[in-house]
Amino acid sequence: MTEARTVRSGFLRSCERFPDRPALAIGGRSLAYAELRDRAASIAATLQRRAPDDAPPLTAVLGQRSETLYASVLGALLRGHGYVPLNPAFPAARTRAMLERSECGALIVDAASEAYLEQVLDGVERRLVLLMPDRDDAEDFAKRWSRHEIVTAGEFESARAWRATPVEPDAIAYLLFTSGSTGVPKGVMVAHRNVTHFLDVMTERYRITESDRLSQLFDLTFDLSAFDMFMAWESGACLCPPTPKQKLVPSSYVGDAGLTLWFSVPSTAVLLSRLGKLKPSLYPGLRLALFCGEALPVDVIQAFAAAAPNAVLENIYGPTEVTIACTAYRWDPARSPAESELGLVPIGEPYPGMQALVADASLREVAPGESGELLMSGPQVSLGYWKDPDKTAAAFVTPPGRSDLFYRTGDRVRRARDGAPLVYLGRIDNQIKIQGYRVELEEVESILRETAGVEVAIAVGWPVNPSGADGIVAFLGATSADLDAIRDRLKLRLPPYMVPREIRLQPEFPLNANGKVDRKALRAQLESSESS
Ligand code: AMP
Repeated sequence: MTEARTVRSGFLRSCERFPDRPALAIGGRSLAYAELRDRAASIAATLQRRAPDDAPPLTAVLGQRSETLYASVLGALLRGHGYVPLNPAFPAARTRAMLERSECGALIVDAASEAYLEQVLDGVERRLVLLMPDRDDAEDFAKRWSRHEIVTAGEFESARAWRATPVEPDAIAYLLFTSGSTGVPKGVMVAHRNVTHFLDVMTERYRITESDRLSQLFDLTFDLSAFDMFMAWESGACLCPPTPKQKLVPSSYVGDAGLTLWFSVPSTAVLLSRLGKLKPSLYPGLRLALFCGEALPVDVIQAFAAAAPNAVLENIYGPTEVTIACTAYRWDPARSPAESELGLVPIGEPYPGMQALVADASLREVAPGESGELLMSGPQVSLGYWKDPDKTAAAFVTPPGRSDLFYRTGDRVRRARDGAPLVYLGRIDNQIKIQGYRVELEEVESILRETAGVEVAIAVGWPVNPSGADGIVAFLGATSADLDAIRDRLKLRLPPYMVPREIRLQPEFPLNANGKVDRKALRAQLESSESS
């Protein structure tokens, strides 16, 4: 019986074809495909033996850019589980909420995240199996956390003990939590068949080979990391995560890691430009440069094109709910400036098999040339939100007169005329991007209201930049408050990029014609206080 194709299939095929080629290179050390497979298979076999059967088929992985972390992702997949990425850069309370919501029975942790794990475990009720592949001895740890079952390096099963069990293409490949407007992160369930469709499109489009070396700038809690990992391993290429130092100044990383493929949010390119690291022909080794996650300014891609003269450059677009990316636009220096709007590179065309609908508020297609909300349908539309049928029903809809399920992206787009590419114009709601991270301002507001004990709190993206915002400024409906203490408490609940840089007291809010808080007026207030 041949196994149904899932996300692990490409990796296993590459292991057969290129056992000795590098699959992963971090900080000057390389791991060959055969080696990475053995580490993953050992984790998978250990999960097979130890992970509880009564939990959902999901395994949490906690870490950052370590060999163990990548082996853990693959280990979960070889076990037949979806992986749930947890991020040690997030406040422990947020990670705990994700872990508990996912109901994972097992968690794998890398060496650098063990101390953080203790903060996360503080308050976790359910019994977990904790796999610690980097630990030889965990006696102290086990004493402190006797409620949980701890498996240290010496207790792992051998790779040979792994037995492949069938995985359905409809099963969850990863469960990824993203900012939720009600104050609770939403878990997006992405199925294997969603990802394999995406990988097929990418394989056809970019022809990545075993000689390619791919960047890995995204944390695993950002779904764009799935492109880096699975595209590399699907093609026998090498995944090259930066060291923490290289991540801070990614310019030397391109040459040191011998990258041929660059994939980042536009904000990273802006950072390179600010550091003077987009000089002409600085990156001759790049053959492909992809940007995704937020609006891509024309001047940014032009500067990157000059720095990477041998690269094909693309702006790709997509929400987590439609699996990594679902439209693409190839930059052409002659044609593209005229096709761009608002100084932003178009988002282009849906991937083969995917369908775009530009719709009005009643979800009917707008007339050609009009702007509207972008809805996407096709094989990459994910399974919806974990244990949240209401939110799923609100966002995954069948528009009138259609039979397919579409995801409402909340993005405002336009196609100037037939044959013209889709251009991105902004959001129809209060979601913003900060350095590519997705933030529902309502989530910040809800936690701020709770933390400060006020009835009204409003957050706005500020200062704004062409791709989104650099940060958040919040307004508190109060005449007095201990703002430093409130910020400190927010830091315990929100990831750093969601914590307002500044909180202002605003006893009275300006209202718009509908009687709602006028966010535009608040932004104008910030603008005028900046210029005065
Ligand atoms: P996420 O789910 O974190 O990937 O965020 C998805 C959102 O990021 C989209 O709905 C857009 O608002 C924004 N986005 C992603 N890619 C692009 C792009 N190429 N241009 C403009 N906005 C983008």
